Amino acid sequence: MLPTDDWLIMQTEQLHAENKRLQRCVRDLVGIMALPAIWVGSGPSRIAESLLDSILAMLDLDFAYLHLNDASGNRLLDVTRSSQWAGTVASPQELEATLARCRLGRTKEWPHRLTVDGNDIAILPVRLGLLGEIGLLVAGSRRTDFPRQTEALLLNVAANQATIGLQAAWQLSEQKRVARELDRRVEARTRELAEANEELLQRKLDFQLVVDAIPAIVWSSLADGRADFVNQHFRRYVGLSTEEARDWGWVGAVHPGDVSEFMENWRAILASGRSGEFQARLRRFDGEYRWFLLRAEPLADADGNLKWFGACFDMHDWKKAQDELRDAQAELAHVARATTMGQLTASIAHEINQPLSGIVTNASTCLRMLSAGQPNVTGAQETARRMIRDARRATEVVSRLRSLFTKQNTSVEAVNLNSAIQEIIALTSTELQRACVHLRLELSDDLPPVDGDRTQLQQVIMNLILNAVEAMSGVTDHARDLTIATERDGDGYVRVVIRDAGVGFDPTASEKLFRPFHTTKSHGMGIGLSVSRSIVEHHHGRLWAEANDGPGATFFVAIPSGADGEAMARQSQK
Ligand code: ADP
Repeated sequence: MLPTDDWLIMQTEQLHAENKRLQRCVRDLVGIMALPAIWVGSGPSRIAESLLDSILAMLDLDFAYLHLNDASGNRLLDVTRSSQWAGTVASPQELEATLARCRLGRTKEWPHRLTVDGNDIAILPVRLGLLGEIGLLVAGSRRTDFPRQTEALLLNVAANQATIGLQAAWQLSEQKRVARELDRRVEARTRELAEANEELLQRKLDFQLVVDAIPAIVWSSLADGRADFVNQHFRRYVGLSTEEARDWGWVGAVHPGDVSEFMENWRAILASGRSGEFQARLRRFDGEYRWFLLRAEPLADADGNLKWFGACFDMHDWKKAQDELRDAQAELAHVARATTMGQLTASIAHEINQPLSGIVTNASTCLRMLSAGQPNVTGAQETARRMIRDARRATEVVSRLRSLFTKQNTSVEAVNLNSAIQEIIALTSTELQRACVHLRLELSDDLPPVDGDRTQLQQVIMNLILNAVEAMSGVTDHARDLTIATERDGDGYVRVVIRDAGVGFDPTASEKLFRPFHTTKSHGMGIGLSVSRSIVEHHHGRLWAEANDGPGATFFVAIPSGADGEAMARQSQK
């Protein structure tokens, strides 16, 4: 059967209407697809509002509701748009409250219809995100044919587009948040750095003030020794400007006589990399030179590079006092020596007298031999030789005495302690005999020499011998034994040991003996031991006493053997 005209007309109209719906749907789809481009740079609420406005206009709805979560899944916002009619039956808040109750359930369990103020409304919920984690879009209409297939499609596409837009917005806001956080941190760090710089600057200023204010010479130099800073006191003291003192300029203030030693010392400290000190004279602004102790301390940075910090201490008065003390000690030693000589006068007179009387006797004999009828020339010659020998002996005694008596200045030489001791024994032998002292000598054969002042060392030995003789002067119940020994001590020292059998001393008071003016003798001065100790210490040695197990005391003198002492001792042994 052929279609009638009416049927054809109806079919044509239906196709026409369908075509229109499709065209509209395509137009709406294009509109919805374009939304993300409009949303670029917008926040979630702007996206939500524009989405609802668009679909409300496109789909002839009575309301559209969008619930959004934030990136962590917590509620972010709810937006509702209503048609004019819906606005008269329910406020957006009422609608939202009704829908929020439904939202708590799962989407597939959502009702398809709602009653709002007695009106039946069809609704279509659409999830944003796979599980609705981004949000929920709900569209509602009084129309009985809602939602049509194309409307459902459009709403789903709109929900997808919103999801894309929101994710982009979140990403953007996250980027902005990160950027803001970064800015905040950079700002905070910059502020901290600025504050730290400020504090550092302040500290530097404070340090500069302190260093400039202290009444001492302070400087710093680079690793190679060139000065890069001198404090105000330094500049004022030497009368140089900062520029003049910089680099090697400050050396200009050193006494010309000290410059080469100064540079040698300074270079040695720099090369060692360790703290050190030395003395030099520095010129004051008025031209006067004073002695200073220069002390330098290295300070390395994390890379091990060496800057030097130093201070100079005025030791002029101390050094002068030291010199005066040394002079006073030398004077005292001389007085002590003269006093000892005074005590020895009788013995010395006897010592000289012996050769003199020998000379007189031999001279008479010589004359007699020559004046005989038959002159005995051979005998006279022999007698004259004896006179010469005796005269030499007397001269030796006198010259020994002269050196002991008159010498005041110190002179350093290699001293053989064995022969120095023997000379003293020759001078004191009469005294020893008179005091009935039995002397035992135990002198080492391979004794190295010591560097020192022979006369001063002899003075020490003489003091110790005479003290021993005096300590034994009252001894009657045993022999008055005196042992003088020399030996090598460990660690390159030479030791002289003087042991007597006298009264001894309280072992707990051995240090007291060396105090100046300590004496237990009625005619004593109490300076012999203290002077002896200062002489020995001046030779970098030690002098000490020990009480014997039996009667008497033992005195020890230890002096470092001379620089070449060991080699010379080995040579003499060969
Ligand atoms: P002085 O002989 O004028 O008293 P010294 O300084 O030589 O001065 O000695 C100080 C004191 O040390 C002596 O008075 C004495 O008491 C004690 N002394 C020194 N040598 C000996 C010794 N060999 N034995 C015991 N006592 C000694």
